[in-house]
Amino acid sequence: SITALSVRDLRTYFPIRRGVFNRVVGHVRAVDGVSFDLAQGETLGVVGESGCGKSTVGKTILRLLNPTSGQVIVHGNDVTSISEGALRPLRREMQMVFQDPYASLNPRMTMGQIVAEPLSTHHLASGNDLVDRVAELFLKVGLRPEQMNKFPHQFSGGQRQRVAIARALAVSPRLIICDEPVSALDISIQAQIINLMMDIQAEGGLSYLFISHDLAVVETISDRIAVMYLGKIVEIGRTREIYQNCKHPYTEALMSAVPIPDPVKKGRQRIILTGDVPSPSNPPPGCAFHTRCPIAKERCREETPALRQGVGGHAVACHFRDPP
Ligand code: SF4
Ligand code: MG
Repeated sequence: SITALSVRDLRTYFPIRRGVFNRVVGHVRAVDGVSFDLAQGETLGVVGESGCGKSTVGKTILRLLNPTSGQVIVHGNDVTSISEGALRPLRREMQMVFQDPYASLNPRMTMGQIVAEPLSTHHLASGNDLVDRVAELFLKVGLRPEQMNKFPHQFSGGQRQRVAIARALAVSPRLIICDEPVSALDISIQAQIINLMMDIQAEGGLSYLFISHDLAVVETISDRIAVMYLGKIVEIGRTREIYQNCKHPYTEALMSAVPIPDPVKKGRQRIILTGDVPSPSNPPPGCAFHTRCPIAKERCREETPALRQGVGGHAVACHFRDPP
């Protein structure tokens, strides 16, 4: 399979400044050595609690944020080291869909203008051709072309997210980074948008990086899942493997909280993690999960576990849990 995206040892640190001289007194290690590949036509779900760095990974890939170190390779081009000019054509390849379509759509533009804008900006269409392209995109996301002249406030949340998807699709990207794209929507509308995204992918071989805290949604759409904790991937593997055979104690705790109507799993126990997520400005030494891990031992305080590969790409970062 063709690799759409390779992320290599990506780090995104934010300086913490204090005092009248605004001196840098430390760093928030929002993303702290993340590596993964995404194949063309594949969906990788990225899950973890709020503050684990999953949104920062998405923004750094798009270079909305500059990485501290590491590489983001898109179709053979390292986007972390190229100039803004060289980045421009690559920006077409990667689009983003955010959680709140209302905040990301200009309220003074009609929905048609919103979808037309990237086509004009990238000189992909003009005149009647532009109107036809926008109409096509409206149909593709399940909206009627007559709705083009309406404004965002005249649309429902689900319709606005459809427009945000149409705008992302306008420039024929190969990758869409979706950051909590359905989290603000009602459950029934969530299902419609997820189905739409999967239909679009089935037609065109698009790749998705699907960032969400909602494990049920991620299970539906993802081929593989990466679990993040304090800026690092602690487990990654095929969706079924992660749901049925996860190895990392943190993944186990997350999974135990998902209500699954599967009778086989009815008897399993909910694992309640005690304590808050430590601050990424001062992560615990060794395994960063040791302050909350139910099976932590002395070694975990000193030695950082490597992400070890097992079969089928299933990898786990824990001293006491082997990948399958
Ligand atoms: Fe828990 Fe130790 Fe494994 Fe970290 S390395 S997940 S603290 S057992
Ligand atoms: Mg976020």
